[in-house]
Amino acid sequence: MSVSRLYVDADLATGGEAPLGEAQFHYLRHVMRRPDGAPLRLFNGRDGEWRGTFEARGKKAAVALVGERLREQQPEPDVWLCFAPVKRARIDYIAEKATELGAAALQPVLTRHTIVERVNVERLRDNAIEAAEQTERLTVPEVRAPVELARLLAEWPAGRRLLMCDETGGGPPIAEALAGLDHEGRTAPWAILVGPEGGFAEQELALLRRTPDVMAVGLGTRILRADTAALAALACWQALVGDWRHPTPRLEVDYRTAKTAV
Ligand code: SAM
Repeated sequence: MSVSRLYVDADLATGGEAPLGEAQFHYLRHVMRRPDGAPLRLFNGRDGEWRGTFEARGKKAAVALVGERLREQQPEPDVWLCFAPVKRARIDYIAEKATELGAAALQPVLTRHTIVERVNVERLRDNAIEAAEQTERLTVPEVRAPVELARLLAEWPAGRRLLMCDETGGGPPIAEALAGLDHEGRTAPWAILVGPEGGFAEQELALLRRTPDVMAVGLGTRILRADTAALAALACWQALVGDWRHPTPRLEVDYRTAKTAV
């Protein structure tokens, strides 16, 4: 039987119980037809990964009985992805792929040319949870409500570097910029910013260029779609600054049999 991997809110400790959500109960009981006692793997973003067993409580509720710990919680790169929201299918894709690529937070940013006003944060968070379950992450990225670019920069946390993807040629190639970082630069908290389909407005480019801790970079000669640029920049950052510089650890758990819940 494949082992479903679930993100839960509860603290995890041997002998404890983690309440499962209605959607998780429905998926396990009625889609995967899991009996009581079915094996699970649990994580909550704080306590590492634990073995669990499924136990229904009535017709619509269930808990996971917590067994032994399988993996300790690991430190993860502190990189935010700030992006101008794009249309539904592609913003869901950004949430899913940025989770797989290890983004610590997803921050939709409203800019002059942003064509999407409303962002369904709950749906993005559901996409991120499902991707985190699938990709064996021990955390789920924080998904935030959209914020105007000017406000984001006005409230920018001191010391966090901002890698701004500038399609107007305002910066060096991303590989050159990141490969040249000193120890402080490599160990600082980071964020990546990508503009909307219509690009950054002139005033926005000027504001970004005079904001401390902003580093403008190019992603080659082709103009990438906003979702492509966001994920490409995040992949470059992971390869040159983040945890792609470390060997892929052998996962003790045979994840190939694992399936994820909704
Ligand atoms: N103004 C163009 C347009 O309307 O198609 C470019 C916008 S581009 C689709 C959206 C965002 O992706 C840009 O604001 C930038 O952040 C990023 N981007 C796309 N291609 C890039 C490149 N070659 N170099 C740096 N950033 C790029």
